[in-house]
Amino acid sequence: MATPLSHLAVPLALTVALGGDSVPPGLMALALACAVLPDIDALGLWLGIPYEHPFGHRGFTHSLPFAVMLAGAGTLLASRLGFDPLTAFGVLLVSAASHGLIDAMTNGGLGIAFFSPFSNRRSFLPWRVIEVSPLRPSALFSRRGFGVLRSEMRWVWMPSLGVALLVLALRGLISR
Ligand SMILES: [Zn+2]
Repeated sequence: MATPLSHLAVPLALTVALGGDSVPPGLMALALACAVLPDIDALGLWLGIPYEHPFGHRGFTHSLPFAVMLAGAGTLLASRLGFDPLTAFGVLLVSAASHGLIDAMTNGGLGIAFFSPFSNRRSFLPWRVIEVSPLRPSALFSRRGFGVLRSEMRWVWMPSLGVALLVLALRGLISR
């Protein structure tokens, strides 16, 4: 996995790109939750669920069908809170789906079961440029952990921020 912190980059970038009117703090909080929730399957490792099991780490909760379900459930909640459902679904779906895509660019562990529960085939993207994060959070406070954070800064935070600022600039130009 990538560190939970770096999975926050995409929803934060979406908030910057679309602006606070489209993504108010309540919707941003839901998007942040959707982006980190897939790693709930890491608890299964402590419960004895094998990594390669359909409900193991990077299994069902990292799939695209799960992202759609999570975004759907989040949209129901967002609608009750008064947010535009179409915007909410788009923001929550991109946030949830980004989790598996980012993990699929890491250079360790098993691949992502993108199409679970229909298939448990594990896949990576062709660009495995992100240093895989250790599963033990304490291991981040080491030379290797520093390398992971530097890699995520380069391959997750900088591109997310770059795209967000580009969209923000384009929106500014269009609205003139
Ligand atoms: Zn993950």
